[in-house]
Amino acid sequence: MTASVKIDIAEDTILVGIAAAPGIAISRSHLVNRDRMAVIERRISPAEVEPETAAFKAAVETSKCQLREVKEQADSKELSEHLYIIDTHLMILDDEMLIGETVSLIREDLINAEGALNRVLRKLRRVFDKISDEYLRERRSDIDSIGDRLLRNLLGETCESLTDVEEQVIVVAHDLSPADTVQMDRSKVVGFVTDVGGRTSHTAILARSLGIPAVVGLETITSLLPSGLPMIIDGSTGSVILKPSPETFRDYLLRKQHYDYLETELLKFRNLTAETKDGQSLALRSNIDFVSEIHTAKEQGAHGIGLFRTEFLFMSGEGPPSEEEQFDIYRSAVEQMAPFPVTIRTLDVGGDKFVPEFNLSDEVNPAMGLRAIRFSLKEVNLFRVQLRAILRASAFGPLRIMFPMISGVGEVRACKQFLERERQELLSEGIDCGEDVEIGIMIETPSAVLIADLLAKEVDFFSVGTNDLIQYCLAIDRGNEHVAYLYEPMHPAVLQALLRVCRAAENAGIAIGMCGEMAGEDMYSLVLIALGFRELSMNASNISRVKRIMRQVEIVEVKQILERLLSLPTAEEVVTELEREMRDRYPEVFTEAHI
Ligand code: PEP
Ligand code: MG
Repeated sequence: MTASVKIDIAEDTILVGIAAAPGIAISRSHLVNRDRMAVIERRISPAEVEPETAAFKAAVETSKCQLREVKEQADSKELSEHLYIIDTHLMILDDEMLIGETVSLIREDLINAEGALNRVLRKLRRVFDKISDEYLRERRSDIDSIGDRLLRNLLGETCESLTDVEEQVIVVAHDLSPADTVQMDRSKVVGFVTDVGGRTSHTAILARSLGIPAVVGLETITSLLPSGLPMIIDGSTGSVILKPSPETFRDYLLRKQHYDYLETELLKFRNLTAETKDGQSLALRSNIDFVSEIHTAKEQGAHGIGLFRTEFLFMSGEGPPSEEEQFDIYRSAVEQMAPFPVTIRTLDVGGDKFVPEFNLSDEVNPAMGLRAIRFSLKEVNLFRVQLRAILRASAFGPLRIMFPMISGVGEVRACKQFLERERQELLSEGIDCGEDVEIGIMIETPSAVLIADLLAKEVDFFSVGTNDLIQYCLAIDRGNEHVAYLYEPMHPAVLQALLRVCRAAENAGIAIGMCGEMAGEDMYSLVLIALGFRELSMNASNISRVKRIMRQVEIVEVKQILERLLSLPTAEEVVTELEREMRDRYPEVFTEAHI
């Protein structure tokens, strides 16, 4: 650990990173030494092959023991649901690509153990760097974390544990592994900041789930700070303030008190009904990527899962999951969530969701290429296996099936035919299926918006995927930071598209919901209710916040505001007008610091 001041830091120095987990932490820095180790690669003699291989295998075993110990120590409920991360690391430690290749480099190329391991790690990192999907790319940190542990064990260096922190601190690290996060003593670690990482890194996901404020992606913070420096982090905005002045300190203390107060207030909303002040009720649901998230969804008061992104089951790198594996997962989701429904979306790969073994990466224009339902309708064997697993799970509780990225009626009919065929097949095999599985589609292409009235005749529900709809509607790559400023949910074209879809659903008498990120943004969610959305599905942590706001607002008033918003020519004017109106009408709800 470094104890001396590295550079002169002025009072109130502000750094801005990525807001990874909300909340304010005020304390002193605790620098964690995770410097990359110097690895020396050298040629070995044939006589050294066995000792080097044995040393490497011993390091693998030690690493496994350490991780199992972390797992055993993680006794709380919030932590236990995240232990799959440790399991993932344990699986990586059995992975042929990592272990087998290292051993064969030692044996066949006569390279020393750490040199061989380092080569394999570099190769794996290159593979991950090419992945365009943010979530998957960040799984690279799992490789880094395991690689770091293995190298330290191989070189006999200790892995500094965060269990030994003695006073309240803000941990400052180049990166933190999920194992570090799980081990953190939460009465001591009040926040953390890292050089690397993004909002969807496992560490960030864990921090949100554990309620530890965090800012990641600060690039060089570890090279600036000594340990023991007074600092403040605001995990809601991504700001980090070093050496706060007495005024800044007081200001943030007040903000923290306000934030903590509102968080406690929010708890009261978990079990209240989701309805506006004038009685418009709504289903607030949760989006999940893994079945392990259902626990949190229920705790946050989700009335069902509005989007289960099944593609993550296909991304383990071990080939597509079997019917049995999928069935077990879907069934568990349905049983846990009953009596509320689970909406299972069929595989949505392609575009920015890359699955190496599907070989989709070389398309010139992947966002418009063979993705989502187009892929399923081409790879029909995969599709049929998934449909069978979903249908079988439907016998165990309320389940809805949803098809992604529909662009025309033909695709919907093809999906329904496949579904019916699989149902008949299962019944002829004597296997039960649910009686009334609702069939829905995601509305995320401009063509689906334009023919929403025709599509509405084919299905039981629509769920609007604004993450993609905005991308296609405004022709803005959702992953491209250069055009990110144009990605505007309140763009007049987006509002018109949403209005059109709501009208079509209303006319046909089918359910209308949204599962794009926009659904969980408090002020936007009110606009959505006014537009006619009756189901909003979001990250579980947003549910209470959205509920709190909607319960204090009269939807007839938002409808009046909406009339005017629909006539405004730019997103900026729409947002300004919306904020002004809401603050004027509900000053107690939309204060400057409302969360
Ligand atoms: C969407 O596009 O809005 C959506 C919810 O799906 P995904 O983000 O998985 O593409
Ligand atoms: Mg989508």
